[in-house]
Amino acid sequence: MFEKYFPDETVSSTYDIDYEKLYADGYRGLLFDIDNTLVKHGEGADDRAKELFLRLKKIGFECCLISNNKKRRVYMFNEDIGVHSVFNAHKPAAKGYYYAMELMNTNLNNTVFIGDQLFTDIFGAKRIGMKNYLVAPINKREEIQIVIKRKLENVVLSEYRAKIKAKLRAREIEKGIQSQEKREIKEWKKKRYTQLRRQ
Ligand SMILES: [Mg+2]
Repeated sequence: MFEKYFPDETVSSTYDIDYEKLYADGYRGLLFDIDNTLVKHGEGADDRAKELFLRLKKIGFECCLISNNKKRRVYMFNEDIGVHSVFNAHKPAAKGYYYAMELMNTNLNNTVFIGDQLFTDIFGAKRIGMKNYLVAPINKREEIQIVIKRKLENVVLSEYRAKIKAKLRAREIEKGIQSQEKREIKEWKKKRYTQLRRQ
């Protein structure tokens, strides 16, 4: 029921993603939400963020920030970062994601989105078929409307986790059946062999 909101990948932090691997896999553009994805809500770029973007540029990535926040907030964060940016993006609207790819000169096959919110960030990326990472939000104390949204997100995420669990369980059962079949065939062969020897 909630599958359209399921993230492709979930990680505990933006800073834990294996970007070198993404580049090796052919990805060339990285699209980041800012608030609670890269820094706490409303904060400027800290050393950790600055270092991350230096590293990403060195790897060879094109990067872009995409925020539903105002121009001033996005520019304030981007001051010492210096990457492409899209403000007032109205995520989950598709327009901002496409505009960002235009700025980075990338496409849906080689662009990855990273953000902390399911219904705006992830849903926006998913509906256009862009690979996406859901990260745990940096700030623990959030505004009330975000708290409500988180509750809804938890409903979706618990279904997502249950589905993964069910998939793993099905795989285990399948494995069990396969090994049972193998055992039966082996036993049958053994029996057949003894029968043949007796003849
Ligand atoms: Mg955010």
